[in-house]
Amino acid sequence: MNSFDKTSKNNIRGGGIDITTNKALNQQLDPALLRQALALIHSAQRIAVIAHEHPDGDCLGSALGLAHILGQVGKTCVIACADPAPGNLAFMPGIDKLQHTLDNEDYDLVIALDAGELSRFGSLYQKHQAFLERVPILNIDHHLSSSGCGNVNIIDPISAATAELLVLFQQQAKLPLNKDAALCLLTGIITDTSSFQFTNTTARTLEASAVLLRAGAVPETVVQPIYRTRPLAQMRFQSLVISNAQTSCNGRLIWSQATDATLAIAGATPDMDDNFSGLLRDIEGVEVAVFFKSYGDPNITRLSMRSAAPYNAAEICQRIANGGGHARAAGGTLHLPIDAATKLVITELERIMCT
Ligand code: AMP
Ligand code: MN
Ligand code: MN
Repeated sequence: MNSFDKTSKNNIRGGGIDITTNKALNQQLDPALLRQALALIHSAQRIAVIAHEHPDGDCLGSALGLAHILGQVGKTCVIACADPAPGNLAFMPGIDKLQHTLDNEDYDLVIALDAGELSRFGSLYQKHQAFLERVPILNIDHHLSSSGCGNVNIIDPISAATAELLVLFQQQAKLPLNKDAALCLLTGIITDTSSFQFTNTTARTLEASAVLLRAGAVPETVVQPIYRTRPLAQMRFQSLVISNAQTSCNGRLIWSQATDATLAIAGATPDMDDNFSGLLRDIEGVEVAVFFKSYGDPNITRLSMRSAAPYNAAEICQRIANGGGHARAAGGTLHLPIDAATKLVITELERIMCT
């Protein structure tokens, strides 16, 4: 199946989607693009559905949701991600089958979700680079900075979550939607909107969620483990990050750090730091918040950025931190110790924000 050319992009970038004209959920995608995506799926039997590294509720919920959908039409789907699933997503049906490699690479198709660059799939990409370069790929994503890593790329930055885009896909392609698929997709939407609080929530996000509720998904199943009942270690970890925060530009810029030492003091695990940058951003007067973390290798620092208009987090992370994301929420990775990475990023933000 080498006839696909990954360099000729077939993207929709919002242009194929019109959420202002009250179009039905099953009329949102460019029909030609949908046909191309379905042709890839129809000609495949064994499909690897992959989620980006350092996974979140959207990439894993989307991967599992799509696997449950395609399983109902007779496809054999394997879900894979470089890193383990956060413990608070254990309720998602099928998460126990998550793989961390593409084993012997016997897949006819890879569906790459919630990221638009193969490098975002971390060790899955490093381990299987030659395979990923030759296998047909369907890429479905909602990031502004996505370049599209598939033979067919369905990229829609208007979607609050990749899971929202998958509901449009399922509706328009008339694919079956069972309760397990619906719960996983609802997890993606709830986590990427922080329970419909973020500005990425549109009427269409709510309509897609209503479809999932009608199919049997119960919001409480998602919200209770993710936003309510959290481990004490996570709350201790959070309080350390908040108390160590520093500010600049009269409190408009805030940042904090975490390392293995922070985890040890709190008794926490790395997956417990989800949305710490959002927590910092919600402090009164803050316009840009950055959470820096370095676990394991002290020469690698990852950062998570949240911003208010006019600051474009995706642009800043892409330009200075080998990253990307959305205008209001983005991230990146620097091959620097945490203090050097912090200095580099904060110096640039102070230049943009305080001068
Ligand atoms: P996070 O701060 O990890 O919640 O990420 C915020 C958003 O930016 C998410 O949608 C991520 O998928 C995206 N993102 C994080 N890191 C990167 C990166 N290195 N490159 C591109 N996008 C990223
Ligand atoms: Mn994600
Ligand atoms: Mn997402």
